[in-house]
Amino acid sequence: VESQLRQAQKMDAIGQLTSGIAHDFNNLLQGIIGALELVEMRVRDKDDGRLGRFINGALTSANRAAALTHRLLAFSRRQPLDPRHVHVNPLIASMEEFLRRTMGERIRIELDLAVDLWVTLCDPNQLENALLNLAINARDAMPEGGLLTVRTRNVEVDQLRARTWQVGDSGQYVGIEVSDTGSGMPADVAGRAFDPFFTTKPNGKGTGLGLSMVYGFARQSNGHCELDSHIGRGTSITLYLPRTTSEAVAVPPPLPAATHPEG
Ligand code: ADP
Repeated sequence: VESQLRQAQKMDAIGQLTSGIAHDFNNLLQGIIGALELVEMRVRDKDDGRLGRFINGALTSANRAAALTHRLLAFSRRQPLDPRHVHVNPLIASMEEFLRRTMGERIRIELDLAVDLWVTLCDPNQLENALLNLAINARDAMPEGGLLTVRTRNVEVDQLRARTWQVGDSGQYVGIEVSDTGSGMPADVAGRAFDPFFTTKPNGKGTGLGLSMVYGFARQSNGHCELDSHIGRGTSITLYLPRTTSEAVAVPPPLPAATHPEG
């Protein structure tokens, strides 16, 4: 429980820091971009073309930097979620082709999808992203090939366990387990795997953000994420997303003003 709390706090702190900086930075950039556009308009007729090229170069860089702040905002914890009623099985089935191509020829893929799976409330794009992150990690853990299994289940979480998750009382969740037959993690790696920027992948191959994003997504969706790994046998990561029964489409919560990139 303690480590879960620490994790949530870290994600909170990093998310707030990131979105705060990204937001302020974007405001400054918008000022620069606006001024540059004005200068560009003023010199357009009088210029022999050289000044215009410099201004264009500056504008391109500023716009790139603005795009980067948008990506940072999208990563940070306070990113706007777009929760919808999601039927997880068809979502996974629609990813199968793509997964096969991503996994390559040496990795078999098995889908084990529960019949009568409950409907969940989450952001379907982010769920896809999370599953993709998990699949890519699984692929990296199986350089010699192996088996990737994606399994869905209805899960009744008992009160005790739910309390440690701090998402309310006992509840019903859609469980999505992604498991591989790869290298597995030593205990010290497993203990830090969800930490932002923690990676064991050499040469800048990893960002260390994959699992922390998966974790953040699960928590923001009022769900949870658990890891089970055994060295030499493989890793399995399970997402628990809350069941929804109401037919009304949930209205996403209003964005805090500070997360509007243009705000
Ligand atoms: P990245 O993939 O960029 O390293 P992640 O946050 O996704 O960042 O993963 C952090 C670390 O956790 C990885 O570097 C790896 O050591 C370990 N890890 C994640 N998934 C697996 C897996 N399926 N099997 C073995 N190790 C894993």
